[in-house]
Amino acid sequence: MLIDLHTHSSVSDGTETPTELLTSARDAGVDVVALTDHDTTEGWAEAERSRPPGLTVIPGMELSCRWFPDDQPPISVHLLAYLFDPGHPDLAAELDRLRSERLGRGERIVANLAADGYPLDWEEIAAGCAAGVVGRPHVARALVRAGVVGSVDEAFATLLNHRSPYYVAKRDTAVLDGIRLVRAAGGVPVFAHGLARRRGRVLDDGAVAAMAGAGLVGLEADHPDHEPDDSAHLRCLAADLGLLTTGSSDYHGTNKATPIAACTTEPDQLDALLAAGTGSAPYRD
Ligand code: AMP
Ligand code: FE
Ligand code: FE
Ligand code: ZN
Repeated sequence: MLIDLHTHSSVSDGTETPTELLTSARDAGVDVVALTDHDTTEGWAEAERSRPPGLTVIPGMELSCRWFPDDQPPISVHLLAYLFDPGHPDLAAELDRLRSERLGRGERIVANLAADGYPLDWEEIAAGCAAGVVGRPHVARALVRAGVVGSVDEAFATLLNHRSPYYVAKRDTAVLDGIRLVRAAGGVPVFAHGLARRRGRVLDDGAVAAMAGAGLVGLEADHPDHEPDDSAHLRCLAADLGLLTTGSSDYHGTNKATPIAACTTEPDQLDALLAAGTGSAPYRD
């Protein structure tokens, strides 16, 4: 069984439509794939319609959150959410807020770059994001098209990372509220790439314990941005806190070098995740 529980389509910041993504999954021999676009469920309907026979699709999302440490600026936290009710009013309202936050913040990043002479057109970038989920990868692709950088990776390494003078943070959901919202909508919250240090500061074990106390169900232990020690630590922490563990590729099409199913989830962990989700059902034969 090949199980990949974290992928992005062009509905957020991947490069393949949901239909193309599911075809890629099937061609790679994947049995179970979750569609987890950032802050939107817009791709779910297409995924359900275009699912290739034999492939199980788990409807999901990656919610943009923050943790507030004592006496320090907030830390970005990505919360995977599976099998929730997309019509839950409080969750839907928070997703609307997050997407409008993305639009305002994307425009500010582009304005910062344009003020220094980088040839970017905000209207064009925003028009390329049909579901309104603008992210730095869209700005990165525009920089590639303009010939400023040779690749999306180079754009992040030079101009778009969180240390860049052009960077603007988003006012993402407080993660304990995010966990409670996902649970209220019948969903299964899983902490994504918790020790991916090159993205910025990471949470300590105490913060993860607080998340478990708020209703967190799992930790993404295996991820392309984790070192072997990180994965091992997250497995120990999950055992201590009574959480399940997943492994996933965080596939973004050609926006990242990682192939689909680069990391995978064990079948017994998938079974536990499926048993915990009550807000929506997998798409399967
Ligand atoms: P944002 O949601 O706008 O803050 O952008 C974060 C997104 O950028 C992540 O979800 C990744 O898809 C992408 N990303 C972050 N770092 C890199 C990188 N070095 N190369 C390519 N994509 C990246
Ligand atoms: Fe992304
Ligand atoms: Fe993420
Ligand atoms: Zn992701």
